[in-house]
Amino acid sequence: MTASPRYLVRGASLYGETSADLLIADGVIAGVGSGLDASGATVVDADGLVALPGLVDVHTHLREPGREDAETVETGSKAAALGGYTAVHAMANSNPVADTAGVVEQVAHLGRRAGWADVRPVGAVTVGLKGERLAELGAMAESAAAVRMFSDDGMCVHDPVLMRRALEYVKALDGVVAQHAQEPRLTAGAQMNEGAVSSVLGLPGWPAVAEESIIARDVLLAQHVGSRLHVCHVSTAGSVEIIRWAKARGIDVTAEVTPHHLVLTDELVRTYDPVYKVNPPLRTHDDVEALRAALADGTIDVVGTDHAPHPSEHKECEWVQAAMGMTGLETALSVVQLAMVETGLMGWRDVARAMSEAPAKIGRDSDHGRPLAEGEPAHLVLVDPAARWTVDPAAQATKGRNSPFAGRELPGRVIATFYAGHPTVLDGALNAPHPAFAGAHAGER
Ligand SMILES: [Zn+2]
Repeated sequence: MTASPRYLVRGASLYGETSADLLIADGVIAGVGSGLDASGATVVDADGLVALPGLVDVHTHLREPGREDAETVETGSKAAALGGYTAVHAMANSNPVADTAGVVEQVAHLGRRAGWADVRPVGAVTVGLKGERLAELGAMAESAAAVRMFSDDGMCVHDPVLMRRALEYVKALDGVVAQHAQEPRLTAGAQMNEGAVSSVLGLPGWPAVAEESIIARDVLLAQHVGSRLHVCHVSTAGSVEIIRWAKARGIDVTAEVTPHHLVLTDELVRTYDPVYKVNPPLRTHDDVEALRAALADGTIDVVGTDHAPHPSEHKECEWVQAAMGMTGLETALSVVQLAMVETGLMGWRDVARAMSEAPAKIGRDSDHGRPLAEGEPAHLVLVDPAARWTVDPAAQATKGRNSPFAGRELPGRVIATFYAGHPTVLDGALNAPHPAFAGAHAGER
């Protein structure tokens, strides 16, 4: 048996703080220190680069099975690797919906076979995302995919009795319900944030209260049941206040913000460019300020991309006809650097918390979000914070061209991603999938 290749990451700034070498061997961080013995190792010069634990996304749409024209597990997990991610949670709104053990096992299998990142399937809360009866939560948890996160994302579990029962079930499974908080009656036909801009444009509005009323209800249900609740893509200042109140009362709630909600506002809808159409919608400048403050003080626990690739025919059309959603995996870390690090609101250690450690805890990914320390799994990302790059969707690995940052210059560039000791990304470009996984089960199909 041949030993797996060893890598010596030389002179990285761990969490943007102390500089050290990292020796990577057999899938783990075999040594941390200065002047480590590099014999037989491939040296990766990390002078000027920040090392963080591999990023974990709690909210990714990989579209497979069923919408392989929009994305596949393989293209999405390549995009994840390029963005610095070593684990992604794939949302359940595929076709068929991931509401059975069979579908979640299929998604996990495709992820392993692709070999670019850990793909953790999210199970649907209700059958077909219809909000009528609970899906087989226990069977998905006990399947080979070991699902711990359940979500009808794209749809809200709006029936309070079903939501209560879902929380009761996941409590027994050490799981979590990730809620897409959107009161459907208050948002029927909604096209954008309800406010001054929607009045001017005459587009039907999505009011903040439609999100806030569901979050308020759900934190009280979570308290009543004693269960874990995760709130997807928080978008309003009022939602932040409710979550802050709930945490102060000891309710077991976590919350997520997307990169785009940290920088973009509903003023962009004046362009009528559907690339800015997203759910929940882009809000106001005051909301953006509140979301940044909440992420910095920990009221919002994680950054989740809500990576939502669409074929161009669903985006290059009139605003009202266009699909909702934006890509995000390949720009997330840069946008967080822009919104949070360059504004002085967060340091790189805080970024590690919000983009790796906390999401891994929420998703029960015990192997991820671990410290950069000897003996830990070698999932890590090297980022060049001084780099500047212009986003070109055509050059990205995702099939989606719907990036709201297309043509913009962003700071910070992912130079390398190590997934289980293997560089999926080197020199800022895709390298190779993990050889222990990639193609390993190719004959099974
Ligand atoms: Zn959603």
